[in-house]
Amino acid sequence: MTKAIAPRARKVRVLATLGPASNSAEMVANLFQAGADAFRINMSHGDQASKVEVVQAIRALEKRFGRPSTILADLQGPKLRVGRFAEGRVVLETGKTFVLDRDATPGDETRVELPHREIFEAIEPGARLLLDDGKLVLRVIEHNADHITTRIEVGGPLSNNKGLNVPDVVLPMAALTEKDRSDLAFAVDQGVDWIALSFVQRPEDLAEARKLIGGKAALLAKIEKPAAIERLEEIIEQCDGVMVARGDLGVELPPESVPPLQKRIVEVSRRMGRPVVVATQMLESMITSPSPTRAEVSDVATAIYDGADAIMLSAESAAGQWPTESVSMMNAIGVSVESDPMHGDRVHFTVTRPDPTTADALAEAAKTIASTVSAKAIICFTSSGSTARRVARERPPVPIMVLTPRQDTARRLGLLWGTHAVHTRDVESFEEMVAKSKRMALRHGIAKAGDQVILMAGVPFRTPGSTNVLHVVRIIGDELNGYTHSTDA
Ligand code: ATP
Ligand code: MG
Ligand code: MG
Repeated sequence: MTKAIAPRARKVRVLATLGPASNSAEMVANLFQAGADAFRINMSHGDQASKVEVVQAIRALEKRFGRPSTILADLQGPKLRVGRFAEGRVVLETGKTFVLDRDATPGDETRVELPHREIFEAIEPGARLLLDDGKLVLRVIEHNADHITTRIEVGGPLSNNKGLNVPDVVLPMAALTEKDRSDLAFAVDQGVDWIALSFVQRPEDLAEARKLIGGKAALLAKIEKPAAIERLEEIIEQCDGVMVARGDLGVELPPESVPPLQKRIVEVSRRMGRPVVVATQMLESMITSPSPTRAEVSDVATAIYDGADAIMLSAESAAGQWPTESVSMMNAIGVSVESDPMHGDRVHFTVTRPDPTTADALAEAAKTIASTVSAKAIICFTSSGSTARRVARERPPVPIMVLTPRQDTARRLGLLWGTHAVHTRDVESFEEMVAKSKRMALRHGIAKAGDQVILMAGVPFRTPGSTNVLHVVRIIGDELNGYTHSTDA
């Protein structure tokens, strides 16, 4: 019998980016125990070989802790980045000149490589170059085929491979670079659960990635370009999950336009039943400080009140000094906000009307019944996970326990609001389903003797897309008798 683990004490999921500060097996386990539900591996930093052990460390959690693990591989996309510095890091001084060139020699305070040929042709004098999510600003003075000379308008520290945005000039960008294709194949080969596509501009961008993934992972669209906002519904329709990528979004657009867009992206994603992640700078000050600012805590809380599926840590957990503390803080904010009696009302400010399908009708009914009879959980039997996604879309007041015979489904659900996925043997009959639900609810500490739980399934079993059963059962308490020697998971 594999270990049974109680669900997290919150419904919002925590996605933690791994990096130099957290790549070790020990740190991955620490972050998991502190509350990380899913891990992001950023293909922008470090080579493929360095990711193999990280993937293994994440998967090793499953045996150790008895919970499916979730891995999201984030493809760099056509992100512009500066090259490397001889010292790894320089400080650019406001008012001085700085040159971007096509020379791979490590850079210094006066110059650095910019390994993107197309910019040298498309750039214009007077245009701004924003570095490191907009923290530094350069203004173009002049340029030719291999040099861009700039004045440093806002200086500051700059380290290897930091991002660069050119909001004043439209650059010809392909959706997937050569590096992305190679990283995508690598990620699929490593068996990751989600692949995130950066700088999506059009629904067609997703179609290409979808084809290359070939059903082996779910596809998440990072919304960070103004063009994507214009076709938001169409883009969300084409993907399995969404990220509000506030870092680049707040550089491509004025920062004050990000909060209304965040609310809109979260709302549309929820309506369309796609898990949505709010990302970037959530606890930014925790990169160097063991406690966050009040404003950061409030920002995380806002995302939770808006009903986002997941909140994400970037450099806080990847490269900061307090990775575990950052995850613990996310966890604590989640628990606190969700224990606010107003949490449910605020989340349901976004109204998600059921689609005219049996699955949605039952999902909505399950939510209502759960609160009317004070049931302790909704238990879904699902193969593809689609029933679980429709139930989570309703944002019910109780945990959603998902029993699935497919390991890939159990893993992918790690980004979904309120779900506790269990990879387990399939059931053959209605009676078996009822008995198994009761056992699993007890073993995972979701319910106790005397409690009611709600079951959802499709009968006949093993027929995808057939959700048609909603059943309310009361747990008696003797369901675990004679069961301890079972090999069932
Ligand atoms: P993106 O635009 O995809 O968010 P990013 O550069 O902002 O890219 P994040 O993963 O959001 O990257 O933040 C992680 C930070 O940690 C980066 O700014 C980077 O400087 C630092 N870092 C260094 N090495 C790594 C690594 N191997 N993986 C992840 N982050 C790393
Ligand atoms: Mg980032
Ligand atoms: Mg980005």
